[in-house]
Amino acid sequence: MKRNRIELTIVVPCFNEEEVLPLFYRTVTQTIEEMGVTHEFIFVDDGSSDGTLKLLRQLAAENPAVRYVSFSRNFGKESAIYAGLQYARGEHVALMDADLQDPPAYLPQMYRILQEGEYDNVATRRSTRAGEPPIRSFFSRGFYRLINRISETPVVDGARDFRMMKRKMVNAILQVGEYNRFSKGLFSWVGYRTKWLSYDNVERAAGQTKWSFWKLMRYAIEGIVNYSHAPLDFVTTSGMVLTVAAFIWAVVLILKRIIIGNYNVSGWTSTVCIILFLGGIQLLSLGIIGQYIARIFLETKHRPLFIVQESSDDAQTPADGE
Ligand code: UDP
Ligand code: MG
Repeated sequence: MKRNRIELTIVVPCFNEEEVLPLFYRTVTQTIEEMGVTHEFIFVDDGSSDGTLKLLRQLAAENPAVRYVSFSRNFGKESAIYAGLQYARGEHVALMDADLQDPPAYLPQMYRILQEGEYDNVATRRSTRAGEPPIRSFFSRGFYRLINRISETPVVDGARDFRMMKRKMVNAILQVGEYNRFSKGLFSWVGYRTKWLSYDNVERAAGQTKWSFWKLMRYAIEGIVNYSHAPLDFVTTSGMVLTVAAFIWAVVLILKRIIIGNYNVSGWTSTVCIILFLGGIQLLSLGIIGQYIARIFLETKHRPLFIVQESSDDAQTPADGE
């Protein structure tokens, strides 16, 4: 394994992709063979419940350039990417989705750009959101505008995970062992010279997207909380503003009381409005602080990012069981 240097590793996270995997494998293999570089595939089975693992065992048995890692359950794409990078041995590593939404035709161009030496990393973004539900596009755009305003780490709108990196950048990413991974931010955070390529949105070749609206929403919160302190600043600022306002109002009320004397008690409506408003702000602030504490909690447990139940590197790969 150390004798012949592997030029390119293709890392593919797979979660229930049996429908599209054979087509993916065929297409990408063809492209790479045309490139004529030594290569390997690392398929990461992220706890699929369909025949994905069986297929991977088959591919690995047929072709020594195919390696796979299978998780004990679904750990999420971020963990799958991390595992893939860890197992990768190539001098260059490309990350690709299994659904052919990342056109393999770009691989030769990416490789060439890295060879030229000016860049360490070629990333892709889609220039259109064609084929996406309008509501989803609306919220996605809003998210990118927000996170780029409040976070110091730029996150490119429409950036895909499809990219090719040099070994040194892969090592840098592996050094960041944090539990709460938001890779769009992570890739940008480690730095290096990045070349961006854009292409039109491509629809999935087969199978279903794994992202529901709520999963995306949680992903967005993950991104914001992990790469920005702005929500905490909001809590602090609103606390200060409200304290100052309360103080001024108290002074006004006391003076009024002294100057006018006993006036009729009224103002039920305003009192209730104030109580509701303050209650709301307090709960919101607690929630925001809670988001950060929850992440500290998870981070301090130092749990592994994934658990492998089987891989092609195992001494004795179990015979096709299920
Ligand atoms: N994926 C994964 N674990 C998950 C969800 C997705 O490994 O929990 C993989 C999936 O198999 C695919 C890639 O991540 O290769 C992108 O997923 P999908 O196509 O569903 O996302 P979309 O392209 O719709 O953003
Ligand atoms: Mg997809």
